[in-house]
Amino acid sequence: MKELEKNFNPQSVEKSLYRMWRDKGYFKPADDRKKETFTIVIPPPNVTGQLHMGHALDETLQDILIRYKRMKGYAALWVPGTDHAGIATQIKVEENLRVNEGKTRYDLGREKFLERVWAWKNKYGSRIIEQLETLGSSCDWDRLRFTMDDGLSSAVREVFNNLYEKGLIYRGYRIINWCPKCTTALSDAEVEYAEENGHFWHIRYPVKGSDEYVTVATTRPETMLGDTAVAVNPEDDRYTHLVGKTLILPLVGREIPVVADDYVDREFGTGCVKITPAHDPNDFLVGQRHDLAVIRVMDDGAKINAEGGIYEGMDRYEARAAILKDLEKGGYLVKTEDHVHNVGKCYRCGTTVEPLASDQWFVKMGPMIKPAIDAVKEGRIKFVPERFTKIYINWMENLHDWCISRQLWWGHRIPAFYCDNCGKMTVSRTDIAICPHCGGKVRQDEDVLDTWFSSALWPFSTLGWPKETDDLKRFFPTDVLVTGYDIISFWVSRMIFSSLEQTGKEPFSTVFIHGLVRDAQGRKMSKSLGNGIDPIEIIDKYGADALRFALATGNSPGNDMRFSDEKIEAARNFTNKIWNAARFVLMNLTTNDTTLPDAEKLRVEDKWILSVYNRVTSEVNANIDKFEIGVALSKLYDFVWDIFCDWYIELIKPRLLSENKEDSENAQRVILYVLTGALKLLHPYMPFVTEQLYQALPHDTESIMISAYPEFDEKLCFPEDEAHMAAVTEAIRAIRNRRAEMNVAPSKKAHVHIVTENREAFSESAKVFFKKLASASDVTVCSEYNDEGAVSIITPAARIYIPLGELVDLEAEKKRLEKEAEKVKGEIERIEKKLSNEGFVSKAPAAVIDGERKKLASYKEKLEGIEDTVKNFK
Ligand SMILES: [Zn+2]
Ligand SMILES: [Zn+2]
Repeated sequence: MKELEKNFNPQSVEKSLYRMWRDKGYFKPADDRKKETFTIVIPPPNVTGQLHMGHALDETLQDILIRYKRMKGYAALWVPGTDHAGIATQIKVEENLRVNEGKTRYDLGREKFLERVWAWKNKYGSRIIEQLETLGSSCDWDRLRFTMDDGLSSAVREVFNNLYEKGLIYRGYRIINWCPKCTTALSDAEVEYAEENGHFWHIRYPVKGSDEYVTVATTRPETMLGDTAVAVNPEDDRYTHLVGKTLILPLVGREIPVVADDYVDREFGTGCVKITPAHDPNDFLVGQRHDLAVIRVMDDGAKINAEGGIYEGMDRYEARAAILKDLEKGGYLVKTEDHVHNVGKCYRCGTTVEPLASDQWFVKMGPMIKPAIDAVKEGRIKFVPERFTKIYINWMENLHDWCISRQLWWGHRIPAFYCDNCGKMTVSRTDIAICPHCGGKVRQDEDVLDTWFSSALWPFSTLGWPKETDDLKRFFPTDVLVTGYDIISFWVSRMIFSSLEQTGKEPFSTVFIHGLVRDAQGRKMSKSLGNGIDPIEIIDKYGADALRFALATGNSPGNDMRFSDEKIEAARNFTNKIWNAARFVLMNLTTNDTTLPDAEKLRVEDKWILSVYNRVTSEVNANIDKFEIGVALSKLYDFVWDIFCDWYIELIKPRLLSENKEDSENAQRVILYVLTGALKLLHPYMPFVTEQLYQALPHDTESIMISAYPEFDEKLCFPEDEAHMAAVTEAIRAIRNRRAEMNVAPSKKAHVHIVTENREAFSESAKVFFKKLASASDVTVCSEYNDEGAVSIITPAARIYIPLGELVDLEAEKKRLEKEAEKVKGEIERIEKKLSNEGFVSKAPAAVIDGERKKLASYKEKLEGIEDTVKNFK
């Protein structure tokens, strides 16, 4: 046993406790092969990022689960790691280069630029890891992985080759989402849609050799430079005569056909649709069906290219303005309509995405969709909460082929090699320099893979796949994936189909979804609002336990949460409460015995606290098993604060000081047992303070972290004693409340008469509690009590009477009330006099008179109340 400082000082103990846990090897899964495994792989944070509140929540929930399962006897493994985060990291380094050296990546060239990124990674990559440690994360750091380390890179190669060999990866000229600022393709998941006010411009296209024309409407008039047809519905009688005829594209002069295609909705707009195969995904498909030319009119920076004639060199919006002006001048612009539409934005930089036809690599999704949906529909993978199943299935059912090439340098370079000699392409698991077909020199594809291509393999690549490692055999498939709902499409879905395709197994059995951390007013935390809270600052100020507690409080699966100062302060107060309770216990301890006394030696209050503790224990286990992390914590909070500290400790204080050594030690053993149990139950939530206290108290395991998590114990069920004590505590609470309402000081003692049928609950020993906790001078339990003037308090188990005279000094109170009555009478007289004065009543405004009348009524009411009270004193 050691002395505890007066206050808990997280800064002085957290680092050393963390080091102790790590050095002892507690973060590693137990070697014992007979133990069931429990595995979580961390959603890898961006390697150059910093811990934000979203991470803090994500990691806290994972650590709670992993510590819980470890204490439950599982071989628990939490695999940590970081993601190279292609675009995000490259943008940061490019920005840095531009600001500090005025250079672009092209000035440096690929090799030198990548050296810079690696240097950046080496400099900042450990920061996020250190921050994860500060939070108390019990990851096995010896298994730390990085999406671009050798093992994971070879997994990426293997998957690319596997899919390519099965015909599930192909290179094609397709419409992709293009970010002109990041100058790269984006997958559908990387486009965020926002409503914007725009216009519908109605443009007239003349029919060649006639006075006729058709009118098309567009939100992006600059794309007309690339139009290669106008389409109508084949069943639209208004236009059937035009199908096959030729139109003259205004401003450009190109001759384009009118084609008939089911894709056109007759009811929408004029029923005529301009077709720009190079700049719209639907038009691209129409173009394929009608063998139309694909004319791309913009370059990678979204500037008009040579195909755009006089508009060449203009930015897309500049060109739009110029084209509209020219259309108007030429009499082609029929009308301009206001129109609110959804505009796709790059998820990284917010630039409006331009759909472009481009040569890219794709994963063919078709054959992989059904198994990934079935795994969830058949319950092999479960979403918590269940409602996210629908979102997942909906996303999967509407999945297009996945564009996986990115025009970046930072990432896994596409393992395709081109030979300019024979023109053949070779996809290879290893780098090659020589063409296997002709022996000519080859060059590797310039592009890299989408960051999510490697993250999709994370649950099995981190465990050693494609090698049949021990870890893979022992820990895969993993158990729970903890993640936010915002990356179900980016990540969760891709891990599921990738794992099923590559390993034939589900990557995890449960997806535990959490919401976002919002500010106190419920707003998203963002740089622009300046309302972000830095978790590291919170840890520095309040300690990691307080942050974890605040994040877990009220947490319910799938729902956003608010983070406020009140929450963090409540967390700190709770830590102090436990600390003080443990200090009190420690100061009164004369025994080292961590076991419980025999049941017959236990008093009613002992059985009560043990029984309540046992029930809470069983509920907490059940709640955590159901991922009700917040519910479990609030039960623990109430138990520790209210039941244990405010009741049990108060109830047994006299026994601790008692001459009866055996009774005193029995009380000590119970309080030590319950306190230690509560610390263990709380440990996954608040690892540091619970360990610090555990170490100070007599304990039987080296560390609380590897002690057994408390579970329901039949021997600790004392339902009768629990019910009796519940009746007593309820009565005491009711008396206290009434006394507080009446403003009676606790020092003012009064005789308590209890009328009850439950004589057992209100036994001799219970009377002591009333004296100690309900300011009772004496307690009489009776079957009847008659005193009309007594204060009566009713609880389900009893009617309680306290003679009023014992609560207040009747004579003094009577005098005070009589004085008060005189004063009120005076006021009444004054107002009555005023109101009977003709002069006042005729001159004063109606509102003033009305006000006086109301005052009079309220004084009269007050007087009546005082007189009633005085009458009761007799
Ligand atoms: Zn961008
Ligand atoms: Zn060749």
